[in-house]
Amino acid sequence: MTTISIEIDARKVAEKALNEIEINGRTIKDWVKLIVFDKDYRKTPCRYCYNARVADPSDFEDDFILTDENDGSYCTIGETEKKYRIGINSGFGRPVEILFEHWNDKTNMNDLVGFYRPNFCPNCGRILNEYEKEKTDL
Ligand SMILES: [Zn+2]
Repeated sequence: MTTISIEIDARKVAEKALNEIEINGRTIKDWVKLIVFDKDYRKTPCRYCYNARVADPSDFEDDFILTDENDGSYCTIGETEKKYRIGINSGFGRPVEILFEHWNDKTNMNDLVGFYRPNFCPNCGRILNEYEKEKTDL
């Protein structure tokens, strides 16, 4: 019986994949550069983290400007047991927050039981730094 030994340099394989595998016309390496480091790409609207402070005024009609008062966004994410909910919230002058809620039968509203403020958007990976001052004040 002959044994063949193959030595794989994992770093070279990963580098080759990053440089050669293309998704929608870009290599994986280019996507990473774009998403993590390109300031303009990071401003691309994302339903999880888009808000007035990152919005480009040229995206809107003349009579509409996104402000801290009209940019609120909330959506449910993930899965939970019945009567619990995980949501992500942005806008209204607050940093992106992942909210943990429990349904209150007496008030017919969700009670906030916990929250987490990530440094990066869990959807698009954008650095969430437009509310740095508020983060330290809260
Ligand atoms: Zn995002």
